[in-house]
Amino acid sequence: MKVEQTLAELVRLDSVSARSNVEIVSYLAARTEALGLCARMFPYRDAAGVKKFNLVCVPPAVDADEMAVELALVGHTDTVPYDPAWAEALALTEREGKLYGRGACDTKGFIAAALTAIEQSDLANLRRPLALVFTADEEVGCLGAKQLAETRALSARYAIVGEPTSLQPMRAGKGYCLAEIRVGGREGHSAYPALGASAIFRAARLIARIETVAERLKDGQHAAFDPPYTTLNVGVINGGTAKNIIAGECRFTLEWRPIPGQAATHAFELIQAEVESLRAVEPDFDCRLEILRLDDASETSASSPLVAELETLSGQTAGTVAFGTEAPQMIEMGAEAVVFGPGSIRTAHRTGEFVPADELNTCVEILARAIAKFCQ
Ligand SMILES: [Zn+2]
Repeated sequence: MKVEQTLAELVRLDSVSARSNVEIVSYLAARTEALGLCARMFPYRDAAGVKKFNLVCVPPAVDADEMAVELALVGHTDTVPYDPAWAEALALTEREGKLYGRGACDTKGFIAAALTAIEQSDLANLRRPLALVFTADEEVGCLGAKQLAETRALSARYAIVGEPTSLQPMRAGKGYCLAEIRVGGREGHSAYPALGASAIFRAARLIARIETVAERLKDGQHAAFDPPYTTLNVGVINGGTAKNIIAGECRFTLEWRPIPGQAATHAFELIQAEVESLRAVEPDFDCRLEILRLDDASETSASSPLVAELETLSGQTAGTVAFGTEAPQMIEMGAEAVVFGPGSIRTAHRTGEFVPADELNTCVEILARAIAKFCQ
């Protein structure tokens, strides 16, 4: 089957993260079983109780209890939601060499390319095993890949993690961390400030210090990134109830993206220290910090054979990504991981998402050659 046709079939299966991905993994299991691979489902229930599946497809010779492979091709089956008015969302449409549809580049294009590359490979003659890994819930926090990593379902020496990188190998990524900070105060009539304590003034004092932490974080540098340091953002703030009431509560989000080599908790600890120092001056400084997400940065060495091979095959020097991927989980499973795939992250998550047909076909060739290089 042509890669475009496979992509059209994948796009037709609505796999927005909120829904169960049972349809698309059943389709992928049937396709891989037809090639003689064993398709193993790893079900779990998400926080809303919806049944989700990770799917790992390996040659029959691979030990089912301890799946260990040379090369894993990893693609997430879920997509971000789409505007119901977008007629092409589930009907792949080609115009001027571009294939439009939800998931066309993020990441069904890579999945279609991986399937096609495997179909073109001589599986009977592979000396080292490969795996196709299809995950759930990537777009909502890499939850499927985290399940696989936690249960040690698989180990791999090398992993190519599909994401739209315009076929540039990406060997490192910043982490992604999020906290909510709640600052308490004491309500009162705004004409009598001494009767209350403003949560907004308190939050403002803390945020001013967070800005100084952001400056200090520039001291830790990782040259492969732009910007080369851990960044911080206060993206949302809410507080107070009326213009003439001393604010009783103020909440804000704190996001940080740690560079590889720095503990994911480092920035958070610097901020906790600032809270402590504010408390030293103001003992009833009421502040609660809650970490909602703590995803490590990841890095595969520039000298990794997988990085070198993908650089040669793509003709592009390896770079780094600032968005979240499943590379950290694959590294946890023992792999040297590179993020790589057709299409651009700039068109992902948009109405009008597309993958260029030539990049899609080039991706098939590159993956087929990588399979031959690492598994034959
Ligand atoms: Zn993606």
